[in-house]
Amino acid sequence: MKKLVIGNWKLHPATLAAAKKLAAAISRKSKHVAVICPPPAFLAGVVFPRLGAQDCFWEPAGAFTGQVSPVQLKSLRVKYCLVGHSEKRKLGETDEIVNAKARALLAAGITPVMCVGFGTKVEQDDLEVTDVLKTQLELGLAGLEPAEVIVAYEPVWAIGTGKNATPEHAEKMAIFIKHKFGVGKVLYGGSVSPYNAKGFLDQRNIDGLLPGGASLIPKYFNQIINL
Ligand code: PEP
Repeated sequence: MKKLVIGNWKLHPATLAAAKKLAAAISRKSKHVAVICPPPAFLAGVVFPRLGAQDCFWEPAGAFTGQVSPVQLKSLRVKYCLVGHSEKRKLGETDEIVNAKARALLAAGITPVMCVGFGTKVEQDDLEVTDVLKTQLELGLAGLEPAEVIVAYEPVWAIGTGKNATPEHAEKMAIFIKHKFGVGKVLYGGSVSPYNAKGFLDQRNIDGLLPGGASLIPKYFNQIINL
């Protein structure tokens, strides 16, 4: 079955020329649906069939220096946008801000990819993890149609650490997120690599992946989108 693989480039690479080269090296034909999320400065200059953004502001226009609106992203043909990534939450993004951004994205016709899992610890059991997710999803999805939102389950301890969750744990969390909140699609993110990706893609309730580091290495990303 075709799944969705969204590559989060974070604050890489350093130049537009390098970003164009990286995008050009990603397969146009793949088994799964591939999306790339370059940094905002390069969104207009990079060519790829499906673009995502890493963040946005919640107002469409106005006196908001330095912000990028969902309406502007839409004009760049952006189809997906991350909200609530743990790296943004670390900088102060609250569940209320996540909710406001998701609302603004849906109003502009962009699918929000709501990242949850910030605050989880490696030694927590599944019940404790669902407690954290419950709060993030109750507040993040408030007033939204959950079926229109993609949720990315990203245990914070697995992001950029080389330590991934087990596919069985991720599957349990995906079932919880779908059944409890009516979310349509759930992705897994956290040290995804060509070596562990298949285990997640084989899970019935995991609809795709959100690789960070591996999306910057075309050989790895191309392997993952073709598994
Ligand atoms: C991410 O950027 O959301 C992520 C999970 O990064 P990494 O794959 O590098 O852990």
